[in-house]
Amino acid sequence: MPGYFVKQLRCLRSRPKTDFRLRGFILIACLAAWGLALLIGPAAAAPPAGKLLVAATIVPLGDFCQRLGGDLVQVQVLIPPGASPHAFEPAPSVMARAARARVFVYIGAGLEPWAARLLRSRGSKNLMVVEAAQGIPLLGLDEPHHGHEAAKAQGHTGQHPDKEGAPETHLAGNPHIWLDPALAQEICVKIAGALIQADPGHRAQYEANFKDYQAKLAALDREIKQHAQKWRLRDYVTSHPAFSYFARRYNLHEVGTIEAAPGREPTPRHLQDLVAAIRRYGIRVVFAEPQLNPRVAEVIAQEAGVKVLRLDPMGGAPPYGSDYLQMMRANLAALDEALR
Ligand SMILES: [Zn+2]
Repeated sequence: MPGYFVKQLRCLRSRPKTDFRLRGFILIACLAAWGLALLIGPAAAAPPAGKLLVAATIVPLGDFCQRLGGDLVQVQVLIPPGASPHAFEPAPSVMARAARARVFVYIGAGLEPWAARLLRSRGSKNLMVVEAAQGIPLLGLDEPHHGHEAAKAQGHTGQHPDKEGAPETHLAGNPHIWLDPALAQEICVKIAGALIQADPGHRAQYEANFKDYQAKLAALDREIKQHAQKWRLRDYVTSHPAFSYFARRYNLHEVGTIEAAPGREPTPRHLQDLVAAIRRYGIRVVFAEPQLNPRVAEVIAQEAGVKVLRLDPMGGAPPYGSDYLQMMRANLAALDEALR
């Protein structure tokens, strides 16, 4: 594209007598071409010579790929930071970007239902596919750990009160496995294996990166355990069931979530139940997530007389950017404040 731009510039210069309107038109066309080049440039550009092109659906998976691949890989994250993956529909340009990758990493469990489309169109030729959730036993979306205690305590056992009218979900279970650092280690085993298979010449480098990052994930796990031992409260309320695996690992109890399932609007009855549960369990904080509208969390917190803090399941924004370890430490600090 920049080459095209240069050619257009040259043609502009070689026609000194062109009238103003034509020159204006050519200039606009050149600018449009340049703008387009800037817009799709990073997507259209081949990876720098020798780099392995890796596409990952969500920011944390992209970070794992980058840590394990180091400067041997170029990582593209398909779902932009700040977007909820539950509501994401990829534009054709995203699909095109993914189709150029040599390694494709996604969560599975129905989080990215469009991945199947991508894999069908791409075929298996020359593409290493990592489905992170494969082989990991999934919590159901009705498991106690992201439970519906509020509803149960009100006598709504069995069917959840706001189940009716719920949008169809593609989820095969709770997909938020990456928020348990031990499961993150399992995911990294798979990613490292795929990188080595796609680029066997650099096996030693990938193995060294893998060993280094596994140690960091293990250290994070130990650190969270140490903090969790000191927490006096175990119950919490958050926006959607993103921290269910985290809760299971560190022995926390998800009393309820604002969205009973990802993308499911809460009913007024559900919100009342949550407020009642917050009071009953002596919960001091409602957690909001940066990818979801904080308004409902604020209303509930105000009603229950507690405060709102942030738990981030995705990352990709300041202060920690896409760094999973730093994001988890920021989450840990919020949990310290809420549960100590
Ligand atoms: Zn989610």
